[in-house]
Amino acid sequence: MKKHNFSAGPCVLPQEVFQQASQAILDFNGLGLSLIEISHRSKDFVDVMEEARELSLELMDLQGKGYKALFLQGGASTQFLMAAYNLLENKAAYLNTGTWSDKAIKEAKLFGEVVEVASSKDKNYNYIPKGYSVPKDVDYFHMTTNNTIFGTQVKQFPDVDCPMVADMSSDIFSRMLDFSKFDLIYAGAQKNMGPAGTTLVVIDEEILGKVTRKIPSMLDYATHISKGSMFNTPPVFAVYTSLLTLRWLKKLGGVEAIEEENEKKAKLIYSEIDINPLFKGFAEIEDRSNMNATFNIVEDNLKETFDTMLKEAGINGLNGHRSVGGYRASMYNALSLKSVGTLVDVMSELERKA
Ligand SMILES: *Cc1c(COP(=O)(O)O)cnc(C)c1O
Repeated sequence: MKKHNFSAGPCVLPQEVFQQASQAILDFNGLGLSLIEISHRSKDFVDVMEEARELSLELMDLQGKGYKALFLQGGASTQFLMAAYNLLENKAAYLNTGTWSDKAIKEAKLFGEVVEVASSKDKNYNYIPKGYSVPKDVDYFHMTTNNTIFGTQVKQFPDVDCPMVADMSSDIFSRMLDFSKFDLIYAGAQKNMGPAGTTLVVIDEEILGKVTRKIPSMLDYATHISKGSMFNTPPVFAVYTSLLTLRWLKKLGGVEAIEEENEKKAKLIYSEIDINPLFKGFAEIEDRSNMNATFNIVEDNLKETFDTMLKEAGINGLNGHRSVGGYRASMYNALSLKSVGTLVDVMSELERKA
């Protein structure tokens, strides 16, 4: 039986995407060849790449606005350094909202001065700092929009005078934003878009070409833009499977439609966390993430019973990250409201039993 998969990433994808991706491994487009044995320069694959790039921009309402979409390798972790390599000449500002921001800051420091405009480290990152100001003389401002590990999400975005860079790995395509406020967006595919192996980069070309250092070809956004994201062999399976997920999302009604669904799922889990005396939410209420709900069990001696009940209900991937402990329910786009309902039933059943 298919499990209810709350895994934080890699994570649940639509069942129809698994089926279509499997079919393409056996016979792609009726070619009598597998997707993973054809040339990436063949028309069939070039079409995949072009559609994936265009559809990404379309779903973010960024078509015709000077943005380019790329499918690169090396994960979001490579973007931590690539963003700085391409954009940081003197000084950059970073908002520190958790482990991933912290890692991005560490990489940026290799290239220039980093101003940490605010940090929520004082409370183990259980909130999003507000009321900070971004210095005027920075090359860019960087933030993590959703903190996968801590279960917080940025709801309000500052107006800044410099390019705005965002790591959207764990909430890309989950809610409608004015994406044109951002100049560089990146997201590892494996949280909400596809399998591991590719990273979506959406970039406004105008911010490039302002640093004086020489940039190695593979790490230069301009290289990938000029080659249509085909400078070297792209991760064909990851790109194709991401495309299938994007097509699924478009068919559902796009980002606005999935956002409504995601809000229903988040309301359901958080209301149980708040009403059930056996559980306590980790993140500050106003900063709670619609993607990753973090919570603890109040009495440690109930943990074993709860874990057994979760297993019996077919619930997978609910363990919290080691730096937070407790539980984390990751509710990415492809996780159904029904799966969240199953989890909530187990939580209330535990209260009846205890
Ligand atoms: C998972 C994650 C990353 C790291 O992604 P990789 O693709 O493994 O490098 C970075 N940022 C955020 C917000 C994440 O959730």
